[in-house]
Amino acid sequence: MSEASTSTTSGPDTAAPRERLRLSFEMDVDICVVGAGLAGLTVALEAARLGASVAVLEGRHVGWNASGHQLGTVMPGYGLPIGDLIARVGFEDARELWALSKNGAEYVRATASEELIPGIALSEGALQVSNVDVGDQLISRLQMLGEDFETEVEGWQVDRVRAELKTGRYFHGVYYPKAFQIDGRKYVHGLAELARHAGARIFEDTPVVSIDSSGIRKRIVTPSARLRASHVVLAGNVHLGATLRRLSETLLPVWRYAAVTAPLGERLAEAITFTGSVSDADGIDHFRIVDGDRLMWASPETTWTARPERFGGAIQRRIRRIFPQLGRVEIAEVWGGAVGETVHGMPQIGQLRRGLWVTSGFGRQGLSTSAMAGQLIARSILWGDDRWRLFSPFELVWAGGATGRIAGYAIGMWGRGSSAAAGALARYRERARGQERVREARRAAANRQAGTRPPRPRQPPGRPLPARASEGEGV
Ligand SMILES: Cc1cc2nc3c(=O)[nH]c(=O)nc-3n(C[C@H](O)[C@H](O)[C@H](O)COP(=O)(O)OP(=O)(O)OC[C@H]3O[C@@H](n4cnc5c(N)ncnc54)[C@H](O)[C@@H]3O)c2cc1C
Repeated sequence: MSEASTSTTSGPDTAAPRERLRLSFEMDVDICVVGAGLAGLTVALEAARLGASVAVLEGRHVGWNASGHQLGTVMPGYGLPIGDLIARVGFEDARELWALSKNGAEYVRATASEELIPGIALSEGALQVSNVDVGDQLISRLQMLGEDFETEVEGWQVDRVRAELKTGRYFHGVYYPKAFQIDGRKYVHGLAELARHAGARIFEDTPVVSIDSSGIRKRIVTPSARLRASHVVLAGNVHLGATLRRLSETLLPVWRYAAVTAPLGERLAEAITFTGSVSDADGIDHFRIVDGDRLMWASPETTWTARPERFGGAIQRRIRRIFPQLGRVEIAEVWGGAVGETVHGMPQIGQLRRGLWVTSGFGRQGLSTSAMAGQLIARSILWGDDRWRLFSPFELVWAGGATGRIAGYAIGMWGRGSSAAAGALARYRERARGQERVREARRAAANRQAGTRPPRPRQPPGRPLPARASEGEGV
């Protein structure tokens, strides 16, 4: 037997379909995890690896919500921009928090190996592009990420971005060579298999309807059986619902929709040569090429649940707006999932009361952050590691209930509208500068023919006037 096949057979069979197991008997465990998404499964896997007895209770099935419907891009960082993170917790803690998110990404890389999860299709590199012309701000951001936060980044000038993405919509870019992407669906099911292999029991179709967390041994009630555990980890994201209403109301649910196109052939390679993930800095579009010539694209959002198929047309139009040369692309599949946004933009990680833990609120960037949280919580329960306390400044803040959803939608729409307007203005300025350069060249040519000196160039729209060194100084 070859070495490769030995290592594959010694791991779990992550590809095999399996029957769902429902909890139908009373149970006693060290740790009960509520929710089998990325967050819950990582805690389960890590705790089981460290020797705890673990039961995961999932109301639907593994990866039912966002975790089974993500695009698989793994990057360091949080929803809260790095500058705001420093302002909130100070430079040193911000550095530590950032380093934790990098650890989370490394954890995913180590777990998403072909040996452990066959067919995971890991590919390297992610590019964050700007919708507006802000090259000057880019330099300080690159310096901060590279020097202070020890993250490998490259600044891409407009020409480089547009050589890889043939569209006039994007300007500068920040390239993360150590970021990567994986098959997101395979990853969540692979995590479940690895957790089972490590000894965790996963029960599906088993919603938790109530929790009594007052005693040393917590009581967890499901419609079909009860369970007792020393620790309960709440990893239910926005669907935790009535189980702990006050906790679930600290998250604003945002449904995000994505689609994959039919094969696009050569025209896709002509429009996009970049092979990693692309996201814009305003968090509107996120896309990458899959299966060689299909485009996977996430964009529309709502703060209410809707049928994903309704958004196929919107994604199709969005692709056409950014890459008109692709023409009308055929959409093969549309899906969606709800992410939990916190008011402060940071995830909820920590102990609410003795033995009651939360790991939630990962927003649009849940792969690296939920991996980090899973490790932190498992190690805290079993080893007493208390680094989760770095997240304590980010308290559970009520997200505003139904009013919060309406406000969230309005703010989201305003944000998208204003970034679209800023993008349109940036493109207008760019066109105007281009036209001005053409006029300038024509004037210079005419002046050369006439043998006169060229006049002082006119200021293109949107550019500040250069300060004059002294009165009377001219061109
Ligand atoms: C379209 C889209 C694209 C995305 N792309 C990316 C990406 O490329 N990279 C990235 O990092 N992130 C991405 N994300 C975000 C990422 O998917 C989420 O941050 C992450 O999946 C959240 O994981 P979770 O485990 O906290 O929540 P969930 O996936 O929601 O899992 C929670 C689980 O808990 C269960 N549950 C809830 N309440 C109960 C209860 N009372 N009893 C039992 N079970 C319960 C639910 O059924 C659910 O299965 C994307 C999200 C979407 C929607």
